[in-house]
Amino acid sequence: MIELNNLQFAYAAGGFQLRLEHLSIPSGQRLGWTGPSGSGKTTLLHLIAGILPPATGSIHTCGVELTTLREAARRDFRIANIGLIFQDFALLDYLSVLDNILLPYRINRSLRLDGSVRDRAGQLAENVGLGQLLSRRPAQLSQGERQRVAVCRALLPTPQLLLADEPTANLDPRNAARVLQALGEYAQQHAATMIVVTHDPNLLSDFDDTIDMATFCDPAPPELGEGGIHA
Ligand code: ADP
Ligand code: MG
Repeated sequence: MIELNNLQFAYAAGGFQLRLEHLSIPSGQRLGWTGPSGSGKTTLLHLIAGILPPATGSIHTCGVELTTLREAARRDFRIANIGLIFQDFALLDYLSVLDNILLPYRINRSLRLDGSVRDRAGQLAENVGLGQLLSRRPAQLSQGERQRVAVCRALLPTPQLLLADEPTANLDPRNAARVLQALGEYAQQHAATMIVVTHDPNLLSDFDDTIDMATFCDPAPPELGEGGIHA
């Protein structure tokens, strides 16, 4: 499902570098991903999702070598195949909750927005307690409600890969359990692969396997280090 090889990435601003020799995540696996703040969890998710291109190396995601695609093709591929729940939600302030959830269908022409998609959007919102809030704007929601909108938007195109970046960080325990249940049930019903970044050790027992970014990180300064991520 996901295979990364000889990956090197650095932000243009400098500072952080990510290096990874090999990482393979089998199809259908539900993986919990931990690690200290700043260790590169979000960066690596965005590389796997094709948002960030690496300097060198290969990124095979859902049967496609992302490094061979241009930016627009990577974006269309991501929207159709990957449910990405951004750490900062990435909701559009000028759209209602419903239109935010429907957004993938508005920006990717290969996805067709019809009545059944609208019904599913309403059902997803209902499942996570947003059923009464569909006409609100993100600014009129709590952090936890916004996070759940982001979850619904990620699930709507029925992706085969779910990447969730700290999806329960802003939620109280009841809503955190609700969101994780929604993600877990989705993954099971659709035999989807799922990576969930989380700081909460209590959640890790829910996954098939866990990876700690701290064990990957190259502790030496980039210009001295020979290490990198080994998994
Ligand atoms: P995590 O998700 O594990 O907290 P991130 O992947 O967000 O870590 O960030 C890893 C490192 O990259 C951090 O040191 C962060 O400051 C840096 N970083 C993140 N985004 C950018 C950016 N757009 N430009 C430059 N540096 C960045
Ligand atoms: Mg992060």
